[in-house]
Amino acid sequence: MNNDTIFDKIIQHKITADILYQDKFITAFHDIHPKAPVHVLIVPNISIPTVNDVKIHQEFILGKLFTVAAKIAKKNGIHESGYRLIVNCNHHAGQEIFYFHMHLLGGRFLGPLIVPV
Ligand code: 5GP
Repeated sequence: MNNDTIFDKIIQHKITADILYQDKFITAFHDIHPKAPVHVLIVPNISIPTVNDVKIHQEFILGKLFTVAAKIAKKNGIHESGYRLIVNCNHHAGQEIFYFHMHLLGGRFLGPLIVPV
């Protein structure tokens, strides 16, 4: 298990973050470099480096990411205008922090999913 990422420290309140939701299973906090008016990171409280590392017994906790995302979207008034949920895995997706996290982005039109190269 990797206990060294920034997100481990945020969950354990060892470093400061703007936490807007936390329960036994999930923590959600504002992204430090927001790419949209609403940009929240939603993470399981257990350390999982990437999607490749997800185990079957973790399906329940990862399902909770969606219910928390919907709750936060509603609280921010973007549930009807719409929002995007993104999970990056490894280099080609641009994953920077190797602690499984879901991006919740909204508050403006987000454009195409993938920028043509
Ligand atoms: P990734 O590219 O790994 O999917 O996304 C990592 C995200 O974490 C980025 O959007 C980045 O802005 C955010 N981030 C990196 N360091 C910190 C930090 O110390 N605090 C917070 N709140 N967000 C961070």
